[in-house]
Amino acid sequence: MPTIVDKVKAVQASINEKLAQIGREANEVLVVAVTKTHPVEIIEAALRAGIRHFGENKVQEARRKLPFIREPYEGFHYIGRLQTNKINALLELEPILIHSVDSLNLAQNLNKRCEAKGRVQDILVQVNTTGEQSKSGCEPEEAIELVQQISTLPHLRVKGLMTIGLMSDDAEGTRPSFRLLKGLFEELKAKENAGYEMRWLSMGMSGDYLTAIEEGANLVRLGSVLFGERDYGGVK
Ligand SMILES: *Cc1c(COP(=O)(O)O)cnc(C)c1O
Repeated sequence: MPTIVDKVKAVQASINEKLAQIGREANEVLVVAVTKTHPVEIIEAALRAGIRHFGENKVQEARRKLPFIREPYEGFHYIGRLQTNKINALLELEPILIHSVDSLNLAQNLNKRCEAKGRVQDILVQVNTTGEQSKSGCEPEEAIELVQQISTLPHLRVKGLMTIGLMSDDAEGTRPSFRLLKGLFEELKAKENAGYEMRWLSMGMSGDYLTAIEEGANLVRLGSVLFGERDYGGVK
């Protein structure tokens, strides 16, 4: 059985091989290990294996786990749907980046809570690039304006865009959605102002991260390729 150390090494090697192949710099892609459903011991093992950033998608679960992590890390990323009534609890965990802001209303609420805490929060705007109704994210046509509106909120800093590709085994099938997000990223970069910065293009998961990197991702969110299949214990 490969250990977490083996898997982290293999993933890093596959990323660097892909970067070399397409003429990008080695190590310019940040791996965020997605540790949802996994216990603190697994998070610590990943951190010992060289992971520096990890992500969770539920505030309650993150609250149960983060205070008990005894290994140092650089950043906790929040990648899940965010309900207004969970914002304060999330901010207490000091996320380095919230990937899932997808409406002006949510952004305004978040801005207000950050102001009360004297905090400036880095966020990504999540875009629904697959057209699936069940997915979070603003519509691609709204993304540019939404980023510009959020950029006027003093306690939030937009640092880029995030999307979730198609849930399929076909990494090629999701290429158009990555290309769409990259297009929006470049368009926003060209208009960059003091209120926002296009630093992170967060796209690619275990099934499609190499495709996402080909399409320009510089942050990938990886769960099962590092930790195996998740066990939700019958509930999702
Ligand atoms: C669960 C999750 C991931 C990781 O999924 P894997 O397919 O296991 O790599 C990435 N991003 C988000 C938003 C997730 O919820």
